[in-house]
Amino acid sequence: MEFEPVIGLEVHAQLKTNTKIFCSCPASFGAPPNTHTCPVCLGMPGVLPVLNKKVVEYAILMGIATKCTISKFSRFARKNYFYPDLPKGYQISQYELPICENGYIDVDVNGLKKRIGITRIHMEEDAGKLIHDPSRPFSMVDFNRTGVPLIEIVSEPDIRSSEEAVAYLRKIRSILRYLDICDGNMEEGSFRCDANISIRSKGSEPFGTRTELKNLNSFKNVEKAILYEIERQKDIVFDGEEVIQETRLWDPEKNNTVSMRGKEDAHDYRYFPDPDLLPLSIDDSWIAKLKKELPELPDEKKERFVSEYGLPEYDADVLTGAVELAGYFEACAKEFQNPKQVSNWIMGSLLGLLNAEGKTIEQSPITPSNLAELLKLIDQNIISGKIAKTVFEEMAKSGKPPQEIIKEKDLVQVTDEALLEDIAVKLISSCPKEVAEYKAGKTKVIGFFVGKIMKETKGKANPEIVNRILKDKLSAD
Ligand code: ADP
Ligand code: MG
Ligand code: ZN
Repeated sequence: MEFEPVIGLEVHAQLKTNTKIFCSCPASFGAPPNTHTCPVCLGMPGVLPVLNKKVVEYAILMGIATKCTISKFSRFARKNYFYPDLPKGYQISQYELPICENGYIDVDVNGLKKRIGITRIHMEEDAGKLIHDPSRPFSMVDFNRTGVPLIEIVSEPDIRSSEEAVAYLRKIRSILRYLDICDGNMEEGSFRCDANISIRSKGSEPFGTRTELKNLNSFKNVEKAILYEIERQKDIVFDGEEVIQETRLWDPEKNNTVSMRGKEDAHDYRYFPDPDLLPLSIDDSWIAKLKKELPELPDEKKERFVSEYGLPEYDADVLTGAVELAGYFEACAKEFQNPKQVSNWIMGSLLGLLNAEGKTIEQSPITPSNLAELLKLIDQNIISGKIAKTVFEEMAKSGKPPQEIIKEKDLVQVTDEALLEDIAVKLISSCPKEVAEYKAGKTKVIGFFVGKIMKETKGKANPEIVNRILKDKLSAD
């Protein structure tokens, strides 16, 4: 029997607002524990929440960007459960009337386009953070994160492989960052993902029982955890047993998942409309205004990079993956009007360099202008492509402009024909054996002569001129 995995993802994105969702405490990360708190977010008796308008605006923006229907009428609900990081004993979330529904995004997986449905996007507040210090006989809790705004983006169970899951997550994160509403940092927890996984025999309609995986704090872990979980479920079914519905925790050290708890059903949470908050009514003019303010999004930018710059799909896809990278490309292509050449250098050299040093494009030691200058120097034959690699490495180290480096290191290309001819003539007279070979039809030995001249000029001879002179001299009688 052949199995097919069925996967649906829940993403929690922390919104980049100044203040929390229902009070005026700062929402920023990294302050000393329990300094960003007030009676509202600590759940003291008698307080009332006041909704942060920016949170609604950001949720609508994400809804528009993912082709959702924006609900004219939505409502906050209490999700009741007990846990030490939840001072009120309930989380304010949305339940039967979320703010956005029925959207989708398109992703590319191995060159194939796949559409993945978005069931809903809703707003909610984050819980606090428990701190377990093994040297102390108790746990501590930091309420700074309590009440920080989140949107939860729930996908349809349309995903069929770990690659599709990662492509979906990357696209969602990219859209959030294009909109500038979430910083998308998985390690710091501002972009979190739970994966729901089941398997069914290929071709059958009904879904199998799902497990929900938590603690997936990097794309690599998402991929590994899903692959592991699919195999675990297959083994269970092969053994004639049944998968049980539960929440499982991914252990990145041991590379496996362990059972955390039986999965609650929605009715266990005793959801009910929050009586402290008015229902939310959103008018058309607000939605229309936000639609107008929407920035260019990854798919549109990618299309434009293909049509405006004539880039291959692949290049456009890589370059529009992050809005800052796309900006870097455009700044460079504005100063050096050969977009494919710019793309090659960014994708080949620059991204390799940043990757090796663990830097983002904003931290690039080479500015877009300096990269454009380097490409101009190659284009004008002032340096060879080979020397350009050396200059590039030097730029990466010092951040200096290329002109300064080639002056300092004396790297300007030798284009002096008389000088190169001189070198060629001397070389030819000292290598009669190779000359004879060339004349006998083995024209490939020209490479030997080119190599010698390059060596003598420390790689600075202009290769076209050298080739032309050599052909000339070698064919002469
Ligand atoms: P819960 O609150 O129980 O986690 P949600 O509605 O928040 O429920 O999320 C359910 C997620 O699980 C969705 O992403 C959905 O696509 C996915 N899902 C539902 N049924 C299955 C299934 N049988 N196999 C895999 N994923 C599923
Ligand atoms: Mg859920
Ligand atoms: Zn507060």
